[in-house]
Amino acid sequence: MIRDQETLSILLDSLSRFVRERLMPAENEVAETDEIPAAIVSEMRELGLFGLSIPEEYGGLGLTMEEEVLAAFEIARTSPAFRSLIGTNNGIGSQGLIIDGTDEQKRHYLPKLASGELIASFALTEPNSGSDAASLRTTAVRDGDHYVINGTKRFITNAPEAGIYTVMARTNPDIKGAGGISAFIVEKGTPGLSLGKLDRKMGQKGAHTCDVIFENCRVGATNIIGGKEGIGFKTAMKVLDKGRLHISAICVGAAERMLDDALRYAMERKQFGQPIAEFQLVQAMLADSRAEIYAARSMVLDAARRRDNKEDVSTEASCCKLFASEMCGRVADRAVQIHGGAGYVSDYAVERFYRDVRLFRIYEGTSQIQQLVIARNMIRDASR
Ligand SMILES: Cc1cc2nc3c(=O)[nH]c(=O)nc-3n(C[C@H](O)[C@H](O)[C@H](O)COP(=O)(O)OP(=O)(O)OC[C@H]3O[C@@H](n4cnc5c(N)ncnc54)[C@H](O)[C@@H]3O)c2cc1C
Repeated sequence: MIRDQETLSILLDSLSRFVRERLMPAENEVAETDEIPAAIVSEMRELGLFGLSIPEEYGGLGLTMEEEVLAAFEIARTSPAFRSLIGTNNGIGSQGLIIDGTDEQKRHYLPKLASGELIASFALTEPNSGSDAASLRTTAVRDGDHYVINGTKRFITNAPEAGIYTVMARTNPDIKGAGGISAFIVEKGTPGLSLGKLDRKMGQKGAHTCDVIFENCRVGATNIIGGKEGIGFKTAMKVLDKGRLHISAICVGAAERMLDDALRYAMERKQFGQPIAEFQLVQAMLADSRAEIYAARSMVLDAARRRDNKEDVSTEASCCKLFASEMCGRVADRAVQIHGGAGYVSDYAVERFYRDVRLFRIYEGTSQIQQLVIARNMIRDASR
């Protein structure tokens, strides 16, 4: 749903200009230093990028899902690290509060997340529970007006930068699956909360992950999202439905960037006396990529509109995540191939993108988990 085409066009134009003029020129610096320059973070705050999908009443831009994916197409045309920094505030870090938080929790945290004053993280994965997230072992035991949290969360995006962590923990040990899990907001600096060392990742330099460790970490009972136990896993899954659409849009934008680079290279590079773009085998790679990007883009927009219409998009979100992330991997592979040897060295952005986009098939549910969700939903719907 697009609320006001004129305002949206202004936003998308300024985003596109910011990406071209500020972010793309800084890509190599971010890759080399593993840091986003502070001046760029400030500009991202000024542009309102931390609050794209946070409701206007809490200081965000309150974008609809369709508007958000259009913005994501633009942001993703540069290094995914930039998107990753704002991604948790707009997505998995804030949505638990937006969807299921109490009014007081929303009033307290959302304005700071929207402005970028606070960075949020989403801590679900553990050393022994990834795809099987409902088997998580972190515990939160009630003790008077507090809960005492113990456990370790793994690969948590923006954990080193975060001011708050949305933490899924088991409040009822008698319920082994999803029903025993609650979601908590834990603030940085809470005694008993510590961070592991930075993960040394394959790509996405400038975006940071690490372990988040809880050792007898006491949080107030008011920090439980929604004020009641046992709904935390459902909250997490609702958050991921939205997150999957967002990541799918990011895959589309990144693939468009890689294809633009590959096309430009193919038109400039000459072999056998002519631009390699004239060779039909190269054209096939360009054309297949164009067609697959168009398909993914159309899927993402359709699913986003359905979500704005309040339809349950669990299946569609998984279809988008599966197709768009796999498509992005294929486009990355072809983009490197079209660059030949140049695609294997870091002078060209495709080498970096090839590594960066590999993550999209893994986090927020691997491709196999998306397949499972789609098939399970199909069987459930057919049995009704
Ligand atoms: C850079 C990065 C950032 C991340 N950020 C966050 C974050 O902010 N918050 C967070 O909570 N988590 C985060 N994660 C964790 C991420 O979501 C998990 O890594 C992912 O869900 C997969 O879990 P796993 O690594 O334990 O793999 P596993 O679950 O061990 O899977 C290993 C393989 O087995 C396959 N597999 C597993 N179960 C099945 C099955 N039933 N059927 C078929 N195949 C199966 C998987 O598809 C995969 O191929 C991040 C991970 C990375 C690498």
